[in-house]
Amino acid sequence: MKKRIFDSVSFKLVLLLITIIMMLVTASFIFNSQIENLKKQIDKIYFGNFIPVTNLQNISSSYKDMIICLQNREKLCSIKKSQRIIQSNWNAYFKAYKTIQERKVVDSIDEDIKVSFMDKNSMKYTIMIQKINFLIEYEINNARKQRKEFLNRYENMKKLLFYNIVALVIFSFAIFIYLTYSIIKKDNHLTILNKKYKIESITDSMTMLYNRGYFDTIFDSIPVVSNSNKWQTAFIMFDIDFFKQYNDTYGHDMGDKTLKAVANELKKYFNKEYEYVFRLGGEEFGAILFDVDKEILENCLAAILKLVEFLKIEHKESKANKYVTVSIGAVIYEPGSNVSTNRLYKLADEKLYKSKQNGRNQYTI
Ligand code: GH3
Ligand code: MG
Ligand code: MG
Repeated sequence: MKKRIFDSVSFKLVLLLITIIMMLVTASFIFNSQIENLKKQIDKIYFGNFIPVTNLQNISSSYKDMIICLQNREKLCSIKKSQRIIQSNWNAYFKAYKTIQERKVVDSIDEDIKVSFMDKNSMKYTIMIQKINFLIEYEINNARKQRKEFLNRYENMKKLLFYNIVALVIFSFAIFIYLTYSIIKKDNHLTILNKKYKIESITDSMTMLYNRGYFDTIFDSIPVVSNSNKWQTAFIMFDIDFFKQYNDTYGHDMGDKTLKAVANELKKYFNKEYEYVFRLGGEEFGAILFDVDKEILENCLAAILKLVEFLKIEHKESKANKYVTVSIGAVIYEPGSNVSTNRLYKLADEKLYKSKQNGRNQYTI
Protein backbone atom coordinates (compact mmCIF):
# COMPACT_ATOMS: atom_id res chain seq x y z
CA MET A 1 0.00 0.00 0.00
CA LYS A 2 2.70 2.43 1.10
CA LYS A 3 4.85 1.58 -1.90
CA ARG A 4 2.00 2.15 -4.38
CA ILE A 5 1.36 5.62 -2.97
CA PHE A 6 5.05 6.43 -3.13
CA ASP A 7 5.02 5.32 -6.75
CA SER A 8 2.13 7.60 -7.65
CA VAL A 9 3.74 10.55 -5.82
CA SER A 10 7.07 10.00 -7.55
CA PHE A 11 5.26 9.57 -10.88
CA LYS A 12 3.62 12.97 -10.38
CA LEU A 13 6.92 14.57 -9.43
CA VAL A 14 8.54 13.13 -12.57
CA LEU A 15 5.58 14.50 -14.58
CA LEU A 16 6.11 17.95 -13.04
CA LEU A 17 9.82 17.79 -13.82
CA ILE A 18 9.17 16.77 -17.46
CA THR A 19 6.58 19.55 -17.86
CA ILE A 20 8.95 22.18 -16.47
CA ILE A 21 11.79 20.97 -18.69
CA MET A 22 9.50 21.00 -21.73
CA MET A 23 8.33 24.52 -20.93
CA LEU A 24 11.91 25.68 -20.46
CA VAL A 25 12.87 24.12 -23.81
CA THR A 26 9.88 25.84 -25.47
CA ALA A 27 10.75 29.16 -23.87
CA SER A 28 14.37 28.93 -24.92
CA PHE A 29 13.27 27.91 -28.43
CA ILE A 30 11.04 31.00 -28.68
CA PHE A 31 13.81 33.15 -27.22
CA ASN A 32 16.27 31.72 -29.70
CA SER A 33 14.01 32.29 -32.69
CA GLN A 34 13.44 35.88 -31.59
CA ILE A 35 17.18 36.45 -31.23
CA GLU A 36 17.63 34.90 -34.69
CA ASN A 37 15.07 37.37 -36.07
CA LEU A 38 16.93 40.26 -34.50
CA LYS A 39 20.20 39.03 -35.95
CA LYS A 40 18.62 38.88 -39.43
CA GLN A 41 17.35 42.41 -38.93
CA ILE A 42 20.82 43.64 -37.99
CA ASP A 43 22.27 41.85 -41.04
CA LYS A 44 19.67 43.55 -43.20
CA ILE A 45 20.64 46.95 -41.85
CA TYR A 46 24.33 46.20 -42.19
CA PHE A 47 24.40 44.56 -45.61
CA GLY A 48 21.25 46.21 -46.95
CA ASN A 49 22.05 49.81 -46.04
CA PHE A 50 25.42 50.37 -44.45
CA ILE A 51 27.55 48.60 -47.10
CA PRO A 52 25.58 50.12 -50.06
CA VAL A 53 25.98 53.60 -48.60
CA THR A 54 29.75 53.01 -48.32
CA ASN A 55 29.79 51.78 -51.97
CA LEU A 56 27.86 54.83 -53.12
CA GLN A 57 30.08 57.21 -51.12
CA ASN A 58 33.17 55.62 -52.72
CA ILE A 59 31.61 56.16 -56.17
CA SER A 60 30.71 59.76 -55.36
CA SER A 61 34.20 60.61 -54.08
CA SER A 62 35.79 58.90 -57.11
CA TYR A 63 33.75 61.11 -59.43
CA LYS A 64 34.97 64.11 -57.40
CA ASP A 65 38.55 62.86 -57.84
CA MET A 66 37.96 62.62 -61.56
CA ILE A 67 36.71 66.25 -61.69
CA ILE A 68 39.76 67.42 -59.73
CA CYS A 69 41.93 65.36 -62.07
CA LEU A 70 40.43 67.08 -65.10
CA GLN A 71 40.79 70.58 -63.54
CA ASN A 72 44.34 70.26 -62.18
CA ARG A 73 45.76 67.81 -64.64
CA GLU A 74 47.81 66.40 -61.80
CA LYS A 75 50.41 63.90 -62.87
CA LEU A 76 49.71 61.47 -60.06
CA CYS A 77 45.99 61.26 -60.55
CA SER A 78 44.51 58.60 -62.76
CA ILE A 79 41.03 58.75 -64.28
CA LYS A 80 41.29 55.05 -65.16
CA LYS A 81 41.93 54.13 -61.52
CA SER A 82 38.90 56.15 -60.34
CA GLN A 83 36.77 54.46 -63.00
CA ARG A 84 37.92 51.06 -61.74
CA ILE A 85 36.97 52.00 -58.17
CA ILE A 86 33.58 53.28 -59.39
CA GLN A 87 32.98 50.12 -61.41
CA SER A 88 33.81 47.69 -58.61
CA ASN A 89 31.74 49.59 -56.01
CA TRP A 90 28.87 49.95 -58.46
CA ASN A 91 28.96 46.22 -59.28
CA ALA A 92 28.64 45.39 -55.58
CA TYR A 93 25.75 47.85 -55.19
CA PHE A 94 24.09 46.75 -58.44
CA LYS A 95 24.11 43.06 -57.51
CA ALA A 96 22.36 43.55 -54.13
CA TYR A 97 18.63 42.93 -53.76
CA LYS A 98 16.35 45.70 -55.09
CA THR A 99 12.61 46.09 -55.45
CA ILE A 100 11.17 46.35 -58.97
CA GLN A 101 10.87 50.13 -58.71
CA GLU A 102 14.36 50.47 -57.27
CA ARG A 103 15.65 48.21 -60.06
CA LYS A 104 14.30 50.59 -62.71
CA VAL A 105 16.12 53.58 -61.18
CA VAL A 106 19.32 51.56 -60.64
CA ASP A 107 19.25 50.22 -64.23
CA SER A 108 19.00 53.74 -65.66
CA ILE A 109 21.87 54.96 -63.44
CA ASP A 110 23.87 51.91 -64.56
CA GLU A 111 23.46 53.13 -68.15
CA ASP A 112 24.45 56.67 -67.11
CA ILE A 113 27.66 55.40 -65.48
CA LYS A 114 28.66 53.50 -68.60
CA VAL A 115 27.99 56.65 -70.69
CA SER A 116 29.94 58.79 -68.17
CA PHE A 117 33.01 56.63 -68.75
CA MET A 118 32.97 57.26 -72.53
CA ASP A 119 34.30 60.84 -72.45
CA LYS A 120 36.08 62.99 -69.88
CA ASN A 121 33.46 65.62 -69.05
CA SER A 122 33.33 67.23 -65.60
CA MET A 123 29.76 68.43 -66.26
CA LYS A 124 28.65 64.79 -66.72
CA TYR A 125 30.63 63.78 -63.60
CA THR A 126 28.79 66.43 -61.56
CA ILE A 127 25.43 65.16 -62.76
CA MET A 128 26.56 61.63 -61.83
CA ILE A 129 27.54 62.84 -58.34
CA GLN A 130 24.02 64.30 -57.95
CA LYS A 131 22.45 61.01 -59.03
CA ILE A 132 24.68 58.99 -56.69
CA ASN A 133 23.89 61.43 -53.83
CA PHE A 134 20.22 60.86 -54.51
CA LEU A 135 20.80 57.13 -54.07
CA ILE A 136 22.77 57.77 -50.86
CA GLU A 137 19.93 59.83 -49.43
CA TYR A 138 17.43 57.15 -50.46
CA GLU A 139 19.48 54.41 -48.79
CA ILE A 140 19.90 56.46 -45.59
CA ASN A 141 16.15 57.03 -45.39
CA ASN A 142 15.66 53.34 -45.95
CA ALA A 143 18.08 52.59 -43.11
CA ARG A 144 16.13 54.92 -40.80
CA LYS A 145 12.96 53.02 -41.64
CA GLN A 146 14.68 49.69 -41.00
CA ARG A 147 16.03 50.92 -37.69
CA LYS A 148 12.55 51.91 -36.62
CA GLU A 149 11.30 48.47 -37.62
CA PHE A 150 14.16 46.89 -35.72
CA LEU A 151 13.29 48.82 -32.55
CA ASN A 152 9.63 47.80 -32.91
CA ARG A 153 10.61 44.19 -33.29
CA TYR A 154 12.91 44.46 -30.31
CA GLU A 155 10.09 45.88 -28.16
CA ASN A 156 7.75 43.12 -29.35
CA MET A 157 10.32 40.50 -28.53
CA LYS A 158 10.73 41.88 -25.02
CA LYS A 159 6.94 41.80 -24.52
CA LEU A 160 6.66 38.30 -25.96
CA LEU A 161 9.39 37.04 -23.65
CA PHE A 162 7.77 38.71 -20.67
CA TYR A 163 4.36 37.14 -21.40
CA ASN A 164 6.07 33.83 -21.99
CA ILE A 165 7.77 33.90 -18.63
CA VAL A 166 4.54 34.98 -16.90
CA ALA A 167 2.65 32.12 -18.60
CA LEU A 168 5.41 29.71 -17.64
CA VAL A 169 5.32 30.79 -14.01
CA ILE A 170 1.48 30.63 -13.84
CA PHE A 171 1.41 27.24 -15.53
CA SER A 172 4.10 25.73 -13.28
CA PHE A 173 2.35 27.17 -10.24
CA ALA A 174 -1.00 25.70 -11.32
CA ILE A 175 0.57 22.28 -11.83
CA PHE A 176 2.33 22.54 -8.50
CA ILE A 177 -0.94 23.45 -6.72
CA TYR A 178 -2.79 20.64 -8.50
CA LEU A 179 -0.18 18.03 -7.58
CA THR A 180 0.08 19.21 -3.99
CA TYR A 181 -3.71 19.18 -3.71
CA SER A 182 -4.04 15.68 -5.13
CA ILE A 183 -1.29 14.33 -2.85
CA ILE A 184 -2.84 15.95 0.23
CA LYS A 185 -6.28 14.70 -0.81
CA LYS A 186 -4.94 11.18 -1.17
CA ASP A 187 -3.25 11.49 2.20
CA ASN A 188 -6.47 12.74 3.83
CA HIS A 189 -8.33 9.86 2.33
CA LEU A 190 -5.69 7.48 3.67
CA THR A 191 -5.81 8.96 7.15
CA ILE A 192 -9.57 8.46 7.20
CA LEU A 193 -9.15 4.90 5.92
CA ASN A 194 -6.49 4.19 8.52
CA LYS A 195 -8.69 5.54 11.28
CA LYS A 196 -11.64 3.54 10.02
CA TYR A 197 -9.54 0.41 9.76
CA LYS A 198 -8.14 0.95 13.24
CA ILE A 199 -11.61 1.43 14.71
CA GLU A 200 -13.01 -1.54 12.78
CA SER A 201 -10.17 -3.79 13.89
CA ILE A 202 -10.94 -3.20 17.57
CA THR A 203 -14.74 -2.97 17.40
CA ASP A 204 -17.36 -5.68 17.62
CA SER A 205 -19.54 -5.02 14.59
CA MET A 206 -22.79 -6.11 16.24
CA THR A 207 -22.70 -4.24 19.56
CA MET A 208 -20.15 -1.56 18.59
CA LEU A 209 -18.28 -2.27 21.83
CA TYR A 210 -14.56 -3.01 21.79
CA ASN A 211 -13.91 -6.59 20.64
CA ARG A 212 -12.18 -9.51 22.29
CA GLY A 213 -8.86 -8.74 20.60
CA TYR A 214 -8.74 -5.25 22.01
CA PHE A 215 -9.87 -6.60 25.37
CA ASP A 216 -6.78 -8.83 25.49
CA THR A 217 -4.52 -5.85 24.86
CA ILE A 218 -6.09 -3.60 27.50
CA PHE A 219 -6.57 -6.43 29.99
CA ASP A 220 -2.89 -7.43 29.75
CA SER A 221 -1.89 -3.84 30.47
CA ILE A 222 -3.76 -3.73 33.82
CA PRO A 223 -0.78 -4.66 36.08
CA VAL A 224 1.67 -2.27 34.40
CA VAL A 225 -0.74 0.68 34.19
CA SER A 226 -2.05 0.16 37.74
CA ASN A 227 1.41 -0.30 39.27
CA SER A 228 2.99 2.68 37.54
CA ASN A 229 0.06 5.04 38.34
CA LYS A 230 -0.66 3.51 41.75
CA TRP A 231 -4.26 3.02 40.59
CA GLN A 232 -6.81 0.48 41.75
CA THR A 233 -8.31 -1.05 38.64
CA ALA A 234 -11.62 -2.89 38.35
CA PHE A 235 -12.30 -5.75 35.96
CA ILE A 236 -16.01 -6.55 35.60
CA MET A 237 -17.78 -9.42 33.81
CA PHE A 238 -21.46 -9.15 32.80
CA ASP A 239 -23.56 -12.09 31.61
CA ILE A 240 -27.20 -11.93 30.52
CA ASP A 241 -29.39 -14.23 32.60
CA PHE A 242 -31.20 -17.14 30.97
CA PHE A 243 -30.34 -15.88 27.54
CA LYS A 244 -30.63 -19.31 25.96
CA GLN A 245 -34.27 -19.38 27.07
CA TYR A 246 -34.72 -15.84 25.80
CA ASN A 247 -33.59 -16.91 22.32
CA ASP A 248 -35.78 -19.96 22.48
CA THR A 249 -38.79 -17.87 23.48
CA TYR A 250 -38.45 -14.73 21.37
CA GLY A 251 -36.22 -15.87 18.50
CA HIS A 252 -32.62 -15.18 17.57
CA ASP A 253 -33.35 -11.80 16.00
CA MET A 254 -34.98 -10.51 19.17
CA GLY A 255 -31.98 -11.98 21.02
CA ASP A 256 -29.66 -9.85 18.89
CA LYS A 257 -31.74 -6.75 19.57
CA THR A 258 -31.59 -7.39 23.30
CA LEU A 259 -27.85 -7.94 23.15
CA LYS A 260 -27.45 -4.59 21.44
CA ALA A 261 -29.73 -2.86 23.94
CA VAL A 262 -27.77 -4.17 26.93
CA ALA A 263 -24.46 -3.34 25.22
CA ASN A 264 -25.71 0.15 24.57
CA GLU A 265 -26.55 0.69 28.24
CA LEU A 266 -23.02 -0.37 29.21
CA LYS A 267 -21.46 1.84 26.57
CA LYS A 268 -23.51 4.86 27.65
CA TYR A 269 -22.69 4.32 31.30
CA PHE A 270 -18.95 3.70 31.04
CA ASN A 271 -18.09 6.61 28.81
CA LYS A 272 -15.39 8.40 30.77
CA GLU A 273 -11.66 8.47 30.30
CA TYR A 274 -9.94 5.23 31.42
CA GLU A 275 -13.23 3.30 31.12
CA TYR A 276 -13.42 0.49 28.56
CA VAL A 277 -16.33 -1.83 27.72
CA PHE A 278 -15.91 -4.99 25.63
CA ARG A 279 -17.95 -7.78 24.20
CA LEU A 280 -16.11 -10.83 25.49
CA GLY A 281 -18.22 -13.20 23.37
CA GLY A 282 -21.81 -14.40 23.12
CA GLU A 283 -23.92 -12.64 25.76
CA GLU A 284 -20.91 -11.84 27.95
CA PHE A 285 -19.47 -8.36 28.35
CA GLY A 286 -16.47 -7.02 30.20
CA ALA A 287 -15.44 -3.65 31.57
CA ILE A 288 -12.11 -2.31 32.76
CA LEU A 289 -12.17 0.81 34.92
CA PHE A 290 -8.81 2.32 35.74
CA ASP A 291 -8.37 4.49 38.82
CA VAL A 292 -11.43 3.44 40.90
CA ASP A 293 -12.09 2.27 44.43
CA LYS A 294 -14.52 -0.28 45.86
CA GLU A 295 -17.19 2.29 46.69
CA ILE A 296 -17.26 3.76 43.22
CA LEU A 297 -17.30 0.27 41.75
CA GLU A 298 -20.24 -0.85 43.92
CA ASN A 299 -22.22 2.24 42.89
CA CYS A 300 -21.50 1.53 39.24
CA LEU A 301 -22.57 -2.11 39.46
CA ALA A 302 -25.77 -1.35 41.34
CA ALA A 303 -26.57 1.29 38.73
CA ILE A 304 -25.97 -1.12 35.86
CA LEU A 305 -28.29 -3.74 37.36
CA LYS A 306 -31.01 -1.13 37.60
CA LEU A 307 -30.38 0.29 34.12
CA VAL A 308 -30.68 -3.14 32.49
CA GLU A 309 -33.76 -4.05 34.44
CA PHE A 310 -35.33 -0.66 33.62
CA LEU A 311 -34.97 -1.43 29.92
CA LYS A 312 -38.04 -3.56 30.69
CA ILE A 313 -37.32 -6.14 28.02
CA GLU A 314 -39.86 -8.86 28.67
CA HIS A 315 -38.42 -12.29 29.60
CA LYS A 316 -41.22 -14.69 30.59
CA GLU A 317 -38.95 -17.69 30.97
CA SER A 318 -36.45 -16.02 33.32
CA LYS A 319 -36.45 -17.37 36.85
CA ALA A 320 -34.72 -14.21 38.11
CA ASN A 321 -37.08 -11.47 36.93
CA LYS A 322 -39.91 -10.77 34.45
CA TYR A 323 -37.50 -8.59 32.50
CA VAL A 324 -34.06 -9.26 31.03
CA THR A 325 -31.37 -8.96 33.70
CA VAL A 326 -27.62 -9.44 34.02
CA SER A 327 -25.37 -11.06 36.58
CA ILE A 328 -22.06 -9.44 37.42
CA GLY A 329 -18.71 -10.60 38.79
CA ALA A 330 -16.01 -8.04 39.54
CA VAL A 331 -12.49 -7.87 40.97
CA ILE A 332 -10.22 -4.99 41.91
CA TYR A 333 -6.55 -5.12 41.06
CA GLU A 334 -4.48 -3.56 43.86
CA PRO A 335 -1.35 -1.77 42.61
CA GLY A 336 1.79 -3.67 43.56
CA SER A 337 -0.14 -6.87 44.28
CA ASN A 338 1.48 -8.66 41.34
CA VAL A 339 -1.60 -10.81 40.63
CA SER A 340 -1.36 -12.24 37.13
CA THR A 341 -3.99 -11.33 34.55
CA ASN A 342 -4.90 -15.03 34.20
CA ARG A 343 -5.67 -15.16 37.90
CA LEU A 344 -7.56 -11.90 37.71
CA TYR A 345 -9.77 -13.27 34.93
CA LYS A 346 -10.40 -16.49 36.79
CA LEU A 347 -11.33 -14.59 39.98
CA ALA A 348 -13.84 -12.40 38.12
CA ASP A 349 -15.35 -15.49 36.48
CA GLU A 350 -15.72 -17.11 39.91
CA LYS A 351 -17.50 -14.01 41.23
CA LEU A 352 -19.86 -14.09 38.24
CA TYR A 353 -20.59 -17.75 38.91
CA LYS A 354 -21.36 -16.85 42.52
CA SER A 355 -23.89 -14.20 41.40
CA LYS A 356 -25.53 -16.80 39.16
CA GLN A 357 -25.63 -19.32 42.02
CA ASN A 358 -27.12 -16.77 44.40
CA GLY A 359 -30.10 -16.16 42.11
CA ARG A 360 -28.80 -13.88 39.30
CA ASN A 361 -29.58 -10.15 38.70
CA GLN A 362 -26.88 -9.20 41.23
CA TYR A 363 -23.18 -8.44 41.52
CA THR A 364 -20.38 -10.03 43.53
CA ILE A 365 -17.04 -8.30 44.14
P1 GH3 B 1 -27.10 -18.12 32.40
O1 GH3 B 1 -28.12 -17.30 33.08
O2 GH3 B 1 -26.53 -19.18 33.29
O3 GH3 B 1 -26.03 -17.26 31.83
O4 GH3 B 1 -27.84 -18.84 31.24
P2 GH3 B 1 -27.70 -18.59 29.71
O5 GH3 B 1 -28.76 -19.25 28.96
O6 GH3 B 1 -27.61 -17.11 29.48
O7 GH3 B 1 -26.27 -19.19 29.40
P3 GH3 B 1 -25.79 -20.15 28.26
O8 GH3 B 1 -24.27 -19.97 28.23
O9 GH3 B 1 -26.31 -21.50 28.48
O10 GH3 B 1 -26.39 -19.59 26.95
C1 GH3 B 1 -25.93 -18.48 26.30
C2 GH3 B 1 -26.76 -18.26 25.08
O11 GH3 B 1 -26.48 -17.01 24.44
C3 GH3 B 1 -26.55 -19.34 24.05
C4 GH3 B 1 -26.60 -18.63 22.72
O12 GH3 B 1 -27.67 -19.05 21.92
C5 GH3 B 1 -26.83 -17.17 23.09
N1 GH3 B 1 -26.03 -16.31 22.27
C6 GH3 B 1 -24.68 -16.21 22.24
N2 GH3 B 1 -24.31 -15.29 21.33
C7 GH3 B 1 -25.44 -14.80 20.74
C8 GH3 B 1 -25.73 -13.85 19.72
O13 GH3 B 1 -24.84 -13.24 19.18
N3 GH3 B 1 -27.02 -13.61 19.39
C9 GH3 B 1 -28.05 -14.26 20.02
N4 GH3 B 1 -29.29 -13.98 19.66
N5 GH3 B 1 -27.80 -15.19 20.95
C10 GH3 B 1 -26.54 -15.44 21.33
MG1 MG C 1 -22.79 -16.98 29.24
MG1 MG D 1 -26.01 -16.03 30.28
